Amino acid sequence: MDKITLSKMCFEGHTGCLDFEKKDGQNFYVSLELFVDRIKGCYSDELSDTVDYSQIYEVTKEVVTSDSGNLIEHLAQRIADAVLKADGSIEKVIVNVSKPDAPIDGVFETMEVTIERSRKEFVILSLGSNLGDREDNISKAEEALRNLPGIEDFRVASIYETEPVGLEEQPYFLNTCVGFYTDIDPFELLDKIHVIESNLLRTREIHWGPRTIDIDIIFYGDKVIMKPELTVPHPRWNLRSFVTVPLRELKDVGQEHPDDKEVSLYRERR
Ligand code: ADP
Ligand code: MG
Repeated sequence: MDKITLSKMCFEGHTGCLDFEKKDGQNFYVSLELFVDRIKGCYSDELSDTVDYSQIYEVTKEVVTSDSGNLIEHLAQRIADAVLKADGSIEKVIVNVSKPDAPIDGVFETMEVTIERSRKEFVILSLGSNLGDREDNISKAEEALRNLPGIEDFRVASIYETEPVGLEEQPYFLNTCVGFYTDIDPFELLDKIHVIESNLLRTREIHWGPRTIDIDIIFYGDKVIMKPELTVPHPRWNLRSFVTVPLRELKDVGQEHPDDKEVSLYRERR
């Protein structure tokens, strides 16, 4: 990735926990590293083929000078969001916010926060349960996912009751899909999914056997990942109507398959 740096922009802002910080204001220094997947302007020499630095400067200035929150961590997040929104060619931004006059009783050069944020992708997960209180398992898993930091615009499909596939001598499943925007790295997301699964007492005794909860990553934007620990899109997503039927409520994946009629809607939701 190509990188453009805008460093130590100085603005007067009012971010801070203490009253006098909000009232009097102080200097904030912001540095940005903007990552672009090959800047077209390298080849064309056209201004319109690169990031408009002055636009990014103005966007950053607007956020810093209008903020009246408590934390520079939150200010940094707002700057990252505004920068990614302002220019669609920026894939990732590293934001550093520094507050050299922070109210600390002692000698120090500055206090600063650095965050790295990527453009958010639309992710779809498939959820299934056929042990214990199946509905409760699904709703607890949904709640845990919805509450992960870095997840936005969370949506859910209906819940469907489905016959077991693979190993047939086991209880019927409840299945659904959820979708959201996130910049959590796919492998990190898989780790978080494993934590949610184990919190819901998921055990792995029999392959394709009964489970309190199974959460699979079906799509991560347009990304293709071919690792043993993570394959995306999920290799069997289009062969399983318990995935394709709820999935269609969240994403257009083309024509319906005749087998898709077999899953029965367990409950209309929301
Ligand atoms: P299954 O979902 O096939 O019934 P598990 O939930 O036990 O079985 O998953 C087994 C392993 O599959 C996981 O530990 C994970 O590393 C791997 N895996 C590969 N691709 C994916 C994916 N797209 N979503 C979830 N897990 C995946
Ligand atoms: Mg799984």
